[in-house]
Amino acid sequence: MDIRIHDLVRTYYSEGKQIRALDHVDLTIPANRIFTLLGPSGCGKTTLLRCIVGLEAPDDGEIYIGDELVFSKAKNIFVPPEQRGLGMVFQTYAIWPHMNVFDNVAYPLQTQKLAKEKIRERVSQALKFVQLEGFEKRPATKLSGGQQQRVALARALVAEPKVILFDEPLSNLDAKLREETRKELRSFLTELQITAIYVTHDRIEALALSDLIAVMRSGRIVEIGEPKKIYFNSDSQFVADFIGRANLIKGKVERLDGDHALFASEIGPVRDLNSQDIPVGQEAYLCVRPEFIRLSKDLEGAHNSYNGKVESLIFIGEAYEGEVRIGETLLTTTVDPTADFREGDTLAVSFDPDHCFLLTT
Ligand code: ATP
Repeated sequence: MDIRIHDLVRTYYSEGKQIRALDHVDLTIPANRIFTLLGPSGCGKTTLLRCIVGLEAPDDGEIYIGDELVFSKAKNIFVPPEQRGLGMVFQTYAIWPHMNVFDNVAYPLQTQKLAKEKIRERVSQALKFVQLEGFEKRPATKLSGGQQQRVALARALVAEPKVILFDEPLSNLDAKLREETRKELRSFLTELQITAIYVTHDRIEALALSDLIAVMRSGRIVEIGEPKKIYFNSDSQFVADFIGRANLIKGKVERLDGDHALFASEIGPVRDLNSQDIPVGQEAYLCVRPEFIRLSKDLEGAHNSYNGKVESLIFIGEAYEGEVRIGETLLTTTVDPTADFREGDTLAVSFDPDHCFLLTT
């Protein structure tokens, strides 16, 4: 089931100030995909999620869930949350500590007053799905954080929602468990073929989990795309920088040769860039991800190669995080952990023009 949002506005008033949490949001969330709202703290992600669920009444706009209009300011429609057919998993585990696993998962069905046998069957299916068979009698407090989050997922799924929404569900888990649970969640949701809306400010979580990512800033959607498109070819400096570490090198398109551009940059000329239809004379930033910057002891002038000095190298296990200076420009790089470089070394710095892109906004 898809979700369509038109011109949604939500304004808060606090301490005499007006806060535009949602600033004319237009958005289509496609059916049966994992759709992530990503953005810095305070950009409006949770407000948008709460408006979709019906926990928040927008000031203006419309929301459709499938063909049903669940909110319209103009038509004075507000369908209450319990009638929207949505499931929700929150940041805090939100499972009841005084109940065992079975009762926690059964709760939404008990409030619907379903027959006991039917409840048992549906709970057992949901627990099987999240791989918690045999845990029915375990008190909720005697589960690990990851297991508690799976109980929360089973409880959201047992009511057979049309859409499931997640508000930073993994942020209370430690780093290793978060990685495992994220993988599990992606496989659960992909198997279910359900529309999932996921809110996070963690870029790695968004990249790893999503089919589509919408990046938000100051109450607006600034870009929507598949994870690889957003990472390798985003449309704006803000998104490029937010979604990963980015070296933004300032310059101007000096010449075009078919699809290729010569870019006069602050570190020197960069040749054979994809021109991206940017005209000659246009100022822009070249975005180069740290993992695409190569360092080499061989200073023989290769294509797009510049002399740089290693300013810092920090060992983080799988790599070194390095900083290398070319003139006034400091670039961050990811260096192979077996590389024999030292701080202060003068090296050749190069990158493949196919692995960079230009940004004009
Ligand atoms: P986070 O990642 O920190 O949870 P978010 O992107 O989910 O942030 P929201 O919680 O949607 O952001 O908040 C958007 C803006 O609206 C923020 O500036 C926030 O301070 C403000 N805001 C949210 N709820 C209220 C409220 N009840 N009263 C006043 N201001 C609010």
